[in-house]
Amino acid sequence: MSTKTLGPVRRKFQPWTDPTAKPLIEFRNVIKRFGDFTAVNDVSLGIYEREFFALLGPSGCGKTTLMRMVAGFDDPTTGDVLLAGQSVKGLPPYSRPVNMMFQSYALFPHMSVEKNIAFGLEMDRLPKGEIAARVEEMLKLVKLESFAKRKPHQLSGGQRQRVALARSLAKKPKVLLLDEPLGALDRKLREETQFELMDLQMTLGMTFLIVTHDQEEAMTVADRIAVMDHGKLIQVATPSEIYEQPISRYVADFIGDVNIIEGRVESAAPVVTIVSEAAGTRVEVNSDTAVNAGDTVYFAIRPEKIAISPDAPAETGINALSGTVFDIGYLGDVSVFHVRLDGGRTIRATVANRHRLIDRPISWDDRVWLTWGRDSGVVLTR
Ligand code: ATP
Repeated sequence: MSTKTLGPVRRKFQPWTDPTAKPLIEFRNVIKRFGDFTAVNDVSLGIYEREFFALLGPSGCGKTTLMRMVAGFDDPTTGDVLLAGQSVKGLPPYSRPVNMMFQSYALFPHMSVEKNIAFGLEMDRLPKGEIAARVEEMLKLVKLESFAKRKPHQLSGGQRQRVALARSLAKKPKVLLLDEPLGALDRKLREETQFELMDLQMTLGMTFLIVTHDQEEAMTVADRIAVMDHGKLIQVATPSEIYEQPISRYVADFIGDVNIIEGRVESAAPVVTIVSEAAGTRVEVNSDTAVNAGDTVYFAIRPEKIAISPDAPAETGINALSGTVFDIGYLGDVSVFHVRLDGGRTIRATVANRHRLIDRPISWDDRVWLTWGRDSGVVLTR
């Protein structure tokens, strides 16, 4: 299993924080229109060499269109796309140092695995010996040495996915573009393959740009994620920043589960105090979000950061809510408690099931208290 995010080298991998670093892929004020529909709306973004970058967002938000402009299948209506500092506008796909792996894999059904992998190299008229060596190297890379002679229909979905990957990598592109690469795999295989992809990207020292609408996938594989909506970049940050410091309710809600409590600011930073009549509590948050007394804001807190107890806390007026359990989702590793507050709102709290569940300490219709600390949630203004 890869430990990409844990290794000391990887931990320091943050070229985007270095003002002197030059991006490998750069979008400059890119707008893409189809007729009078704007699919990509003024995107500026730099992606760095050796980065694993994910474009994440709901269907139709413009992810694939953005990627296709790197591949050369589309060009911006206005703005520019640069690779290693050079504009690639108008350059055909085969002249760009990038390769795109499609969701459908598009393997040639009548060709063996090795022929599929060799195809691009043969088109480029590489010497026979070099092609054979490259194919062998790729087969080894994706652990399919013993499948070289098989045809695609004699392979499992996961194996087909690896052939497609090997074929995309065979020409050693500088950038690999992956459009929903794991969409056809079942959950378990998908998770395994995510780690394999990370290993591969690290081993090869390549730049990977992935398009996905699966937030867990983006969180697992990517160094940074761009969350998109309606053709715009909403937030570009590391997975933990996106999860712990989302900039809006849209991002907080799109990545993971979240409770949003609306209220009015009573006092501002460094401790923002929010009064929420709807929830029936005062909320105190350590936050440097710029807000003024009287502003309407949203307190966002993840379910796993809320403690649930049958006992009232020492102080009940601050960061504490009481209500009745009306639903419990048992997911094996965790249980999700749905608590209805006295005012009618619902709050979700997640509890890790550290012991085998024999007797539930909290059950349906129990009265409970929900509490959290000052650092558990964030203040959002939009
Ligand atoms: P998905 O996850 O469903 O693939 P996406 O975020 O990748 O979605 P895109 O494929 O980039 O979305 O499409 C963005 C928008 O642009 C969509 O509304 C789509 O219908 C539109 N669009 C894409 N290509 C064209 C085209 N060639 N002509 C007209 N509209 C297009």
